[in-house]
Amino acid sequence: MTDPRDILNSVFGFSDFRGVQRQVIARVLEGTRTLAVMPTGAGKSLCYQLPAVMREGTCVVVSPLIALMHDQLRAAEAVGIRAATLTSVDDNRAETRERFAAGDLDLLYVAPERASSGYFRDLLARAKLNLFAIDEAHCVSEWGHDFRPDYRLLRPLLDSFPDVPRLALTATADAHTRADILDQLGIPHDGLIVAGFDRPNIRYAISPKAGTTQQIADLIRETPGPGIVYAPTRAATEKLAEALSRTGRPTRAYHAGLDSAVRRRNQADFVASEDMVICATIAFGMGIDKPDVRFVAHAALPKSIEAYYQETGRAGRDGDPAVAHLFWGAEDFAKARQRIAEVEPERQAGERARLTALGALVETAGCRRAILLRHFGENPPPTCGNCDNCLNPPAAIDATETARKFLSA
Ligand code: ADP
Ligand code: MG
Repeated sequence: MTDPRDILNSVFGFSDFRGVQRQVIARVLEGTRTLAVMPTGAGKSLCYQLPAVMREGTCVVVSPLIALMHDQLRAAEAVGIRAATLTSVDDNRAETRERFAAGDLDLLYVAPERASSGYFRDLLARAKLNLFAIDEAHCVSEWGHDFRPDYRLLRPLLDSFPDVPRLALTATADAHTRADILDQLGIPHDGLIVAGFDRPNIRYAISPKAGTTQQIADLIRETPGPGIVYAPTRAATEKLAEALSRTGRPTRAYHAGLDSAVRRRNQADFVASEDMVICATIAFGMGIDKPDVRFVAHAALPKSIEAYYQETGRAGRDGDPAVAHLFWGAEDFAKARQRIAEVEPERQAGERARLTALGALVETAGCRRAILLRHFGENPPPTCGNCDNCLNPPAAIDATETARKFLSA
């Protein structure tokens, strides 16, 4: 039998597996149903692409966004993998279906809503399948931060092919969401693999707002190299870009409301730059591979710990020191509570739990990293030496001492 490592070298051009890739791939090859929780950039795609190439037949990949599928398609084709997408915007669907039925595809990317059609089920029944890969699997859970009802259609489809292995993948799932994903997708609870979430080169800092623009300008002056400033609204990104240009660094705004040509240019300029600061909404970052981002600042509270981890995780991908500094105010929590009051009642408990977790991260006098890692199911040492609280422990208020002074006065 071929060694997975040979395929890793010859097809993908990588010398070694990273983190838990080898372990996940071994489980897929032995047909064991698995949920892999691995951080963004850890290399989840390889975990299904490699078995897909190695085994006869096709791996059906479920993915929530057409843009994401097309990115993956380009990357797969670039290394010579036979892949296709089957979405509403593809005009070669007939050809794709033929290739699929003829066994001429290693990977077929589809959106979850296809799963419910009897037509699609028949199509799968006529082909030879080697794996179901469910990417962004947190979308199946109402506890997750990005529930997509269409993901619930997958289970009946998966169950009509009980012998085809299943691999669910996500970067962002707390313990509750993980358990839910396992149940929703019919994966046994011992099928969970969690990878290393620690990013030791990122220094985490969190401060109350006190003139946020000035605070971010100070951060920029202290931190050479490219940086991202996340702002809560489109207008805020433009105001910040304008104000922060006074630091002397080139700045740009980025949000979904900008003309697409401007947006593309700002993004391309940022990726090419060695000192640019981009002020962006959360529309910025998906699929951007810039290894030398030296800081990520948040001008307001992110949506959840998962979002915070993902957004700060865009700093320091090259492994060199980087800073993640969040500025928050009480009004951010008020806004978040208001937003929660507006979501469907079934989802409010999950949203409230997520906000409480974020509150604990923001307000702790202890190690930020420890809170982050525990949130992702890891067991960290009590101090990390590379967050604001570990580097400068906040003055502990000794209540006993205070009380004694008060009583003896
Ligand atoms: P994820 O989906 O977990 O965010 P991707 O699958 O998009 O991550 O992979 C992130 C990057 O890592 C890609 O550029 C990919 O080619 C690269 N990569 C994946 N596995 C390896 C490996 N074993 N060695 C080197 N690079 C890898
Ligand atoms: Mg991915």
